[in-house]
Amino acid sequence: MRAVVVNQAVKGDVEVVERELRPLAAGEALVEVEYCGVCHTDLHVAAGDYGEKPGRVLGHEGIGIVKEVAPGVKSLKAGDRVSIAWFFKGCGSCEYCNTGRETLCRSVLNAGYTADGGMATHCIVDADYAVKVPEGLDPAQASSITCAGVTTYKGVKVSGVRPGQWISVYGAGGLGNLGIQYAKKVFGAHVIAIDINDDKLAFAKEVGADIVINAAKEDAAKVIQEKTGGAHAAIVTAVSKTAFNSAVDAVRAGGRVVAIGLPPESMDLSIPRIVLDGIEVVGSLVGTRQDLAEAFQFGAEGLVVPKVELRPLDDAPAIFQEMRDGKINGRMVIDMKKGASGCCGACGG
Ligand SMILES: [Zn+2]
Ligand SMILES: [Zn+2]
Repeated sequence: MRAVVVNQAVKGDVEVVERELRPLAAGEALVEVEYCGVCHTDLHVAAGDYGEKPGRVLGHEGIGIVKEVAPGVKSLKAGDRVSIAWFFKGCGSCEYCNTGRETLCRSVLNAGYTADGGMATHCIVDADYAVKVPEGLDPAQASSITCAGVTTYKGVKVSGVRPGQWISVYGAGGLGNLGIQYAKKVFGAHVIAIDINDDKLAFAKEVGADIVINAAKEDAAKVIQEKTGGAHAAIVTAVSKTAFNSAVDAVRAGGRVVAIGLPPESMDLSIPRIVLDGIEVVGSLVGTRQDLAEAFQFGAEGLVVPKVELRPLDDAPAIFQEMRDGKINGRMVIDMKKGASGCCGACGG
């Protein structure tokens, strides 16, 4: 198989290499990957920010077709379309795995980080943990739901927002844009999108945001308090402490702020504000297999439409460089069939 791996220096560069596929072990399935999205998390893994993983096959936004299952596997069969997600496998028996919080499992394996991931022509998955992609969902779009989609769907779920209530979505990029769609179309909430980029805000409006605010030009919390009396909930996908602080200031009493973005810093929390106004601040990490199945289904029903751009496998090193240079706006998805045989990629062979 051909795979995109973290290079030996672990300084952020990746390379496309030829790898032997090992035989399947009990409980596993072999997936022929069709598409795999490239995410900022992949940049962190390639740079060794979470620990050095030279040679690791990257990718946690993989979608592919099952080619073969190990003897005894019942949950999947050849021909099924499945996902390869960041939540690759839990231990299946701990407190978290047994109480619907499997993403918090202390022995979790993450695709493209602690397990070889989906940025390759083939990937071996644990059959019970690969979530099926429903009929009617475009596989390239499904790759985005595997990460950004399920993460924001879960975040909105955790926010507890109800139909007709207001939710602020901080950050209108790859994550936030899907969060806006889930909040609006699935949860029936009124949505306020906050970003510092007018193009992203215009797109937020296009996909259903009721109010958009450019936080570089206006005090978002003040505008939200004035226009809505304070949001009932917020999800913060922006990678900035300022956004987290503003989200707390923008909710009404009893509001809940869900942290999704991961800036490596602390937020300010006024204790009187938390106590007197009963504000809750909680973290939300990707989603369980059940969350992903739900998030896929809403995609298949056309309620949520991720915007993706396809690139050939051999472009992987260039895509990583472009992402590091901040040159990429949309979601880059690698099409494994393009450039898979080492040709130019342009012919599709
Ligand atoms: Zn991702
Ligand atoms: Zn566990």
